[in-house]
Amino acid sequence: MNVVVLLGAPGAGKGTQAPLLAACLGIPVVATGDLFRAAVRDGTPLGLEARRFMDAGRLVPDEITVQLLLERLARPDADAGVILDGFPRTAVQAAALDVALTERGAKVCAAVLVDVPGEELVRRMSGRWICRANGHPYHEALSQPRTAGICDLDGSELYQRADDQPDTIRARMDQQLGALREVIDHYRAAGSLRTVDGLQPIVAVASAINEQLAAAGICGAAAPGSAAEA
Ligand code: AMP
Repeated sequence: MNVVVLLGAPGAGKGTQAPLLAACLGIPVVATGDLFRAAVRDGTPLGLEARRFMDAGRLVPDEITVQLLLERLARPDADAGVILDGFPRTAVQAAALDVALTERGAKVCAAVLVDVPGEELVRRMSGRWICRANGHPYHEALSQPRTAGICDLDGSELYQRADDQPDTIRARMDQQLGALREVIDHYRAAGSLRTVDGLQPIVAVASAINEQLAAAGICGAAAPGSAAEA
C-alpha cells in the first residue's frame, strides 16, 4: 500500500499537484478539505459540525477529522494506496494515521513538503477561485479560466471560498503554519520527509515530486530520464 502525504501550507499548490501525482501512481487523492466540503454540501451531522470551524478559518477538531479520514481509507479504492492532501494537519492526526496504517501492516512511504514562503502564500490564496462541481482551482492572476467565472474542465461556476478572504487567510495561516511545523517534525523524525521547492512552475514541481518519490522507492513514480517518463 503506497501512502504518500503531500504537505504544505494552504496555497502551496498541493491541490494542483495531487491529481498529477494520482494519474502517475494510479491511486486516488484523498483530500480532507474536499471530504468536509462534501459533508457540508450533503448536510450530514459531521458536515454541520465541521462547517463552524471551516467558515472561521480554523482547523476542524482532530477527533472529527480522523474519523472522516479513516472512513475514507476503509473504502476499497484505497486498498492499493492513497495520496493524502490536507491530512495530517496536526501532530495528533499524524500519530493517529501511523496507528491506523500499522494495524493494516502499512506506513507512510513518503511525506513530501511543497515549500513556499509565507508572503507568496497570502498573494496566491487571495486570488484563488474554485469550481462548484469539482473544486478545480484557478487564480485571477496566475491561472485564469478561458471564460471568466466558468471552469474549463466541467463548465461549472467559479466561486471564492468563504475561507479564502484575506482576513480569514491570515487567521488560517497563523493557526495552520504552527501545526504544520509539528507535522513536518513528525515525518522528519520518522525519516520519511522529502522537500521540493514550490516556487517553481507547476510542471517542474510535479517532476521534482516524482523524483523524490522514485528516490524513496515508490512504485509508479518515474525516475528522471527513465523509460516510463519518456
Ligand atoms: P482545505 O481545502 O484543505 O484548505 O481545507 C479546508 C478547511 O477544511 C480547512 O481550513 C479546515 O477547516 C478543514 N480541514 C481540512 N483538512 C483538515 C485537517 N486535516 N484537520 C483539520 N481541519 C481540516
